[in-house]
Amino acid sequence: MRHPLLKNLTAFALPAILLVAASLILPRIATFPAEWQAHLVSAPYLIFATLIILSFHFNRGRIFCVALLLGVAYWSCRVYLQQGLVDFRAGMIYQSLAVLLPVNITLFCFVRERGVLTTAGRLRLAFLAGQAFMVAWFVRYNYVEVQQFMGRELVASPFLERFLLPQSALFLFFAGGLLIAAKLLVRPAPLESGMFGALLAVAVVCNWLATEHLVPLFMGTAGLLLIISVVQDSHNMAYRDDLTGLPSRRALNEQLMGLGRHYAIAMLDVDHFKKFNDIYGHDVGDQVLRMVASRMQGVKGGGRAFRYGGEEFTILFPRRCLADAVPHLEEVRSTIAGYQMKIRSVDRPKDGQEGKKQRGAGNSDQTVSVTISIGVAECCDGSATPEAVIKAADQALYRAKQKGRNQVCT
Ligand code: GH3
Ligand code: MG
Ligand code: MG
Repeated sequence: MRHPLLKNLTAFALPAILLVAASLILPRIATFPAEWQAHLVSAPYLIFATLIILSFHFNRGRIFCVALLLGVAYWSCRVYLQQGLVDFRAGMIYQSLAVLLPVNITLFCFVRERGVLTTAGRLRLAFLAGQAFMVAWFVRYNYVEVQQFMGRELVASPFLERFLLPQSALFLFFAGGLLIAAKLLVRPAPLESGMFGALLAVAVVCNWLATEHLVPLFMGTAGLLLIISVVQDSHNMAYRDDLTGLPSRRALNEQLMGLGRHYAIAMLDVDHFKKFNDIYGHDVGDQVLRMVASRMQGVKGGGRAFRYGGEEFTILFPRRCLADAVPHLEEVRSTIAGYQMKIRSVDRPKDGQEGKKQRGAGNSDQTVSVTISIGVAECCDGSATPEAVIKAADQALYRAKQKGRNQVCT
């Protein structure tokens, strides 16, 4: 089996592909027709406007803030930095961007999603506006010390001197990149993957500011990566079940449309789950559903697990018959039945001191287990509709329950 961390590396694939593509296109832009080159300059505005509308529509406050930030950064580059870092104002704006961009992107990657126009969302917007105001203030009143502070050398290194970015900014980009990469490796997610790509693109922009066509190209790439990440995220929202991470019923319905003439469908249901919830509480119930889902996800023999709804699941076996599917379902059933899940004691007293005493006595943890019943049916010649096969599997599931649960029936 592939190591899960290795699988999570796919989160870096899209940023890597788009950034490499941008780097390959860059030297060729000069050969493009002049009007294309002119469009390239305005394209990032269009991209950021699209991103702002999309993230507002899907209520993704973190991306909304990053989109505004990048939009303003691009505008500042065009208006103030085009002539190069010629005077105090340009230098101050450049260094502020180089320091504030990595800090903010990393921050928005790690804070919780709180929407766009909620109280928290508005506070975040005010936080960004405050930064813009502060930079404008420093520029207006010639705060040379601030610029010197941001631009000062931290370590004497000929290697670091090669970069246009001040050392403080290099450090912030590097640290931010590492933090986001670590987060992605542990828990890959489209929005974070987009922000990782945006951070890299912005680092390139800040360091090679003077390279012709580079700023619009890489800023546009950052925006594009974020647009893709928002679309991917909302797609996941529609097709993935939030609690278990399994594909949802909607995803199942789409798969059913594309089935061939030959497949098996299993319906799975947790036994006595209502009672389980009553005894241990809904939270422990949710924890159990996650455990059950992750065991189902490990089903072999080409099976694909879905959350059908509530404590009911479906496993689809395309191009398999009943006899192929049953041993794998039996394996899922027995793994779940044999799984002892640790939970924190439910009758643990609310009072902390009392609780500590009990934990000291060794009864803070308790293990629980559940069983599932499975009904399975097949379609061998394309004569039955998927709905009819699901119904037959449901009837088989009913028989499994009748016969005493914790078993597979056909
Ligand atoms: P049986 O063995 O016949 O299946 O008994 P059962 O109690 O599992 O049957 P039933 O379908 O009546 O109960 C389903 C229960 O599952 C009801 C509800 O409390 C619980 N349930 C459904 N969805 C969730 C969920 O998302 N989280 C939790 N914790 N419980 C859920
Ligand atoms: Mg049920
Ligand atoms: Mg049940």
